[in-house]
Amino acid sequence: MGIREPEREIDLLAEVDVLVAGGGVAGSAAAVAAARAGATTMLVEREGVLGGVATAGLMANIGNHFLDRRGRPVIHGIAREVIDRLVARGGASAHWASREVPGIVVDSEQLKIVLIEMLQAAGVTVLTHTLAARPLMQGNAVQGAFVETKMGRYAIKAGAVVDATGEADLAYQAGCPMRWTDGSASLEFKMGGVNLEALYQHFRRHPETFPVGMDMVKGFAEFERNWVERGILFFPHGGGSKWDVFQRAIAQGEFEKNKGILWDLDATGLYGLRAQDTVIVNSNFWKVDTLHPLALSVAELETQKSCYYVADFFRRRVPGFEQAYIVQMATALGIRVSRGIDGAVTLTAGHASSPHPVYFGDTIGRAPARARFVETGEFFYDHTFDIPYGVMVPKEVENLLVASGKSVSTEPQGLIRGMSTCMVLGQAAGAAAALCAQQGVTPRTLDTHALQQTLLGQQVDLGPQERLGALGLA
Ligand SMILES: Cc1cc2nc3c(=O)[nH]c(=O)nc-3n(C[C@H](O)[C@H](O)[C@H](O)COP(=O)(O)OP(=O)(O)OC[C@H]3O[C@@H](n4cnc5c(N)ncnc54)[C@H](O)[C@@H]3O)c2cc1C
Repeated sequence: MGIREPEREIDLLAEVDVLVAGGGVAGSAAAVAAARAGATTMLVEREGVLGGVATAGLMANIGNHFLDRRGRPVIHGIAREVIDRLVARGGASAHWASREVPGIVVDSEQLKIVLIEMLQAAGVTVLTHTLAARPLMQGNAVQGAFVETKMGRYAIKAGAVVDATGEADLAYQAGCPMRWTDGSASLEFKMGGVNLEALYQHFRRHPETFPVGMDMVKGFAEFERNWVERGILFFPHGGGSKWDVFQRAIAQGEFEKNKGILWDLDATGLYGLRAQDTVIVNSNFWKVDTLHPLALSVAELETQKSCYYVADFFRRRVPGFEQAYIVQMATALGIRVSRGIDGAVTLTAGHASSPHPVYFGDTIGRAPARARFVETGEFFYDHTFDIPYGVMVPKEVENLLVASGKSVSTEPQGLIRGMSTCMVLGQAAGAAAALCAQQGVTPRTLDTHALQQTLLGQQVDLGPQERLGALGLA
């Protein structure tokens, strides 16, 4: 039985063109794009930092979907600008632009600053510790949001709203038809005092023990070049399940792979930069079969405890970690995928892994098509697939765009949840929301040709010249 909340007047905090809920990489890109397109823009974030999974979640590895198999750049715009700014600050390797680099390992603290600088320069008003609690509805149209703050509840009215909360909180509450996928979650942690060179030397002595063909890493030779030539340490996620150091210990009863509600504690992706003596550990899994606060809280606490269990093992058994210690645990559990929208268009695995280029008339960006170990052991094709605008437009509810890759309309869900494509989606959602507010139209009726022109003006890559010609944009 529910309890009826008393009706009351809520103070109006602000009235803006575009309201963005959630300040992860998608929401930050959305807010920057909206403001750059001339919209008064407000971003509300429930935590005290920007970046979401990438920073509060410590997932400091931006999957390298920027290049096709031949190494030709296919993603520009805000996503590329974020990388360039990180490189300029020393927060990422300057040598990332190679197809051999599976992920652009970044300094999560510097990423926070990059996002702050971009948002401030664009003129976005950012509210931290502000939870978008409910959409403000008129009929089936979203008109803004009710937010919770230290001063209580307020209303924010907006011409158009972008939901970048990761789990599509606003879309869910607005009554959009939703999809659900039982996903997984991890709480990353960072170890300091690590001798990364010693870890590399260990694999140099025993290259046959390096896990092959996992998480976009072909094998030891590539791992070695990334470390020696590019200063990037990238040990594949899931690699521990094929690494003798872990598997021997499991067989000897010295390490439990599954512990309580957590499983695959040997997953152990490792991400580091030579310029630092720290490494991010990507390990503990929790099965996300609900977003109920009780279950989420138990998972969040148990994953924190497991960080020390895994770190102790690293110290005892993993070369280079003898003096290592935990310097930081993520302050937010990272949910890979759970709830998403049923959108006007659904992007499928068939599109993303097509052996031929995939085009959509309403494209808002593109990504390299994935050829998982087809023919020559490559992970990508030479061509791209378009990301259609329609994946962000929910069915049945108006005036709302969803920007997080894990919650846009894809089959399977989370198909384009990597950070690079999250920023592609975010930029498009923000620019579209700005146009909607300025033109007094809804996302469903927006002229996508005008959106594409705005995106081109914001340096988004919609394809080579002949493709732009076909789209009437050349
Ligand atoms: C464990 C893990 C490992 C991953 N590994 C990789 C990888 O190696 N490479 C890669 O490219 N991608 C990886 N991903 C995927 C990628 O990191 C995420 O999909 C991406 O960062 C999500 O960005 P986002 O902005 O869409 O959402 P989020 O990062 O989830 O951001 C959502 C933001 O909204 C805020 N928020 C939530 N609800 C509300 C609300 N109601 N009101 C206000 N604010 C709210 C949150 O605090 C957060 O800041 C991984 C993801 C996880 C979880």
